[in-house]
Amino acid sequence: MSELISIAAARGRVLAAVRPLDAEDVALDAALGRVLAEEMTSAIQVPPFDSSAMDGYAVAAGPAAELEVVDESRAGHPAAAAVRAGTAIRISTGAAVPEGADAVVPAERSEPVGAAANGRVRVPATVSGENVRYAGEDVRAGDVVIRSGTVLGPAELGVAASVGRPAVRCARRPRLALLVTGDELTRPGEGLRPGTIYSSNRYALGAQVRRAGAELVVAESVPDTAAGTRGALARALDGADVVIVSGGVSVGPHDHVKGALRALQVEELFWGVRLRPGKPTWFGVREGTLVYGLPGNPVSAMVTFQLFVRPALAALQGADPSATRAEAVLDRAVPRNPRRDEAVRVRLRPDRDGWHATPTGEQGSHMMTSMLGADALAFVAAGAGEVPAGERLEIELL
Ligand code: AMP
Ligand code: MG
Repeated sequence: MSELISIAAARGRVLAAVRPLDAEDVALDAALGRVLAEEMTSAIQVPPFDSSAMDGYAVAAGPAAELEVVDESRAGHPAAAAVRAGTAIRISTGAAVPEGADAVVPAERSEPVGAAANGRVRVPATVSGENVRYAGEDVRAGDVVIRSGTVLGPAELGVAASVGRPAVRCARRPRLALLVTGDELTRPGEGLRPGTIYSSNRYALGAQVRRAGAELVVAESVPDTAAGTRGALARALDGADVVIVSGGVSVGPHDHVKGALRALQVEELFWGVRLRPGKPTWFGVREGTLVYGLPGNPVSAMVTFQLFVRPALAALQGADPSATRAEAVLDRAVPRNPRRDEAVRVRLRPDRDGWHATPTGEQGSHMMTSMLGADALAFVAAGAGEVPAGERLEIELL
């Protein structure tokens, strides 16, 4: 780790190594959070026909009049008759505007004449188009309704359904293998023996993987042996688009990850980032598979996932890899690290002058609880002294 690279340069190298994945058809019900891999056009106009915005009477626009009600147009059941001079057709919201009508009088502005059963109604003056929703007002046939690369949320799924699509073309989800190294690691539910700890990375990283839209195909605990590490990595590289190894990447006598990666011909693209927490981060590629050696310290692992893995998972699916960045006013002074830029976990609150950021508490890279309630990472540039309260910092939303 001779020369540490910047956060931005590291991200740049990651994104330059990404080869977007191929696409597949996904049923609408399964497409939440997936990334669209087509320019979605509409074959139809939406609404498909002129329809009523109100319950009332469909009329030919004109002066106030007393009209004979000759038929009814209900949602899903258009009227058989047309509106002619002196007549109206009762209509429901969403029902087709009958032939001959070009306005709708809301029920509350019309008045039945005489007994309800005699079928006559008095309506006020109307102008053409009143309370009519025109065909194609929302979407015209041939329009691109959703751009390729869009992450599909509830609104996108609704629009896809409104243009009649039962399935959409999406990028395949990245297959990700997660290896956590360390002889000290124990599964929650098992008893702790002397010197062991629970493996939080398995769960925190696993959840970050899923939240980023990837499929966790392997989640395996690996012992601190050269053979064990190499065997697990060889299996993980086989069939995954992305491999993450946590821990074991440093230079101690029991750190076997870098040696195994070298032996397996994974090409190193960077090792060591000018970042706190997260300096011992390794990244490389083999035949298009992205391989990360993330630090074992749980906070470092989560932070480096956010900064270097999450963007790649987005880019693999053709989505915009950039995170939401903004500025926030620091509410409490933060000491600067002399050599490394720091990603401080902060809680945000809105105020009149914009967002305000308060560190979540102790910022040690082993203090998992500093991630609790963190809304963002605030970037404190390396240097001497401290950043005083009141200063504006760049933040990345989590
Ligand atoms: P390493 O990078 O392997 O030297 O690990 C650095 C620190 O992170 C050590 O204190 C490890 O015990 C800890 N650590 C490594 N992996 C995990 C994990 N999966 N869960 C919690 N802590 C871990
Ligand atoms: Mg270790």
